[in-house]
Amino acid sequence: MRSVAVVGASLAGLAAARALRAQGYDGGITLIGDEPRAPYDRPPLSKDFLLSRTSTEELALTTDDDESLAVDWRLGTTATALDPYERRITLSDGGEVRADGVVIATGARARTLPGAGAPGAGGMSGVHTLRTLDDALALRESLRSGGPLVVIGAGFIGSEVASTALAAGLDVTVVEALPVPLAGPLGAGMGAVCAGLHTDHGVPVLCGVPVRELLGGARVEGVRLADGTVLPAATVLVGIGAEPNTDWLADSGLDIRDGVRTDARGATAVPHVVAAGDCAASYQPGPARHVRTEHWTDALRQPETAVRALLAGPDAGADTACGPLPYFWSEQYGVRIQFAGARRDGDSVRIESGDPEDRSFLAVYERDGRPTAVLGMDQPKQFTRWRRRLAADWAAVTT
Ligand SMILES: Cc1cc2nc3c(=O)[nH]c(=O)nc-3n(C[C@H](O)[C@H](O)[C@H](O)COP(=O)(O)OP(=O)(O)OC[C@H]3O[C@@H](n4cnc5c(N)ncnc54)[C@H](O)[C@@H]3O)c2cc1C
Repeated sequence: MRSVAVVGASLAGLAAARALRAQGYDGGITLIGDEPRAPYDRPPLSKDFLLSRTSTEELALTTDDDESLAVDWRLGTTATALDPYERRITLSDGGEVRADGVVIATGARARTLPGAGAPGAGGMSGVHTLRTLDDALALRESLRSGGPLVVIGAGFIGSEVASTALAAGLDVTVVEALPVPLAGPLGAGMGAVCAGLHTDHGVPVLCGVPVRELLGGARVEGVRLADGTVLPAATVLVGIGAEPNTDWLADSGLDIRDGVRTDARGATAVPHVVAAGDCAASYQPGPARHVRTEHWTDALRQPETAVRALLAGPDAGADTACGPLPYFWSEQYGVRIQFAGARRDGDSVRIESGDPEDRSFLAVYERDGRPTAVLGMDQPKQFTRWRRRLAADWAAVTT
């Protein structure tokens, strides 16, 4: 292999370039990214960056050592199509890149509210989503003018922004369409425990009531819920999830049902094309399904395995290792939430230590008497022990 194109110049794309060199590849690397900025870190955007405690410079993911990667950077350039058999990538500037191997690392974008209030769709000012640095700069500016803030969606990003805005002294309300927040990633019981962090700090969480409309003219003034409740708002943060950036692959023939489908290593069904990070739905042998995680650590570590599969070639098959055990963390109201593994609905939950009421505990998810996942709230040491144990089981099941 003499040339590799990496599409998506963020955490997973940069990790792929580093993994290529670390694994001895000495051919050309072209890194294509639609954002004009060099790769930066997203987790602080909903946390310290919003409070101006982290600067733009501190978000940089690249270091001086990355000079030695000898990457041909194509920033501010969007990949618009992929011919996977020719491995030809069409670019928004009219050019194209042809490569022996392709790493797809185009991540995800924030889902917007349907209708007139949708941010970025000619909607009213004061209505925000949060995915990029520019999104964070705009949200920060809006929050500076004071509250109230209404957060639509009690997922991790919405919850973190609620917590950060409260720390900045704003009046905050969280609205969630589902009966229980975070039931998808954590299950209903543990989702309710995490949502309790809001109420512990006096932030109301209105669950099971969808938003009917955003109120206001040029600028948002409020949010009307389906039950008629009107919440005044100077700023609205729409945190209703993310969608994989796979539109550009629509005619590629790749399987892109909720992300680019790959095997456990990151290889797609097309030889010499792999995917990693938030855009990838990789097969997890434990739960026996494809899962698209949106976690920083997975985006950092998946490329190592995907690049190994790419360099080994399509015939290497299952001899190469599987991807990492899924892991994420969140920080809300000074509490660190950590989760590792792959839970499924129907798994039982056992409190291993601590007490959920105290917001300091470790919960183990189990199926047929075997642990499938672990959740920790302010229990970093115990959590790390369990994460290691699960990672060993994960590797045993998937190789
Ligand atoms: C506000 C925020 C807070 C977060 N906090 C946490 C946290 O606390 N813990 C945690 O585990 N995770 C967190 N995450 C998730 C974590 O940041 C992501 O999992 C990680 O950024 C994924 O990296 P990625 O490289 O796969 O995708 P992305 O970071 O989305 O990068 C993909 C890149 O590809 C570009 N791109 C897309 N389409 C194209 C195209 N057609 N051509 C060229 N370029 C393209 C995108 O613009 C982007 O630059 C957070 C995310 C956000 C947004």
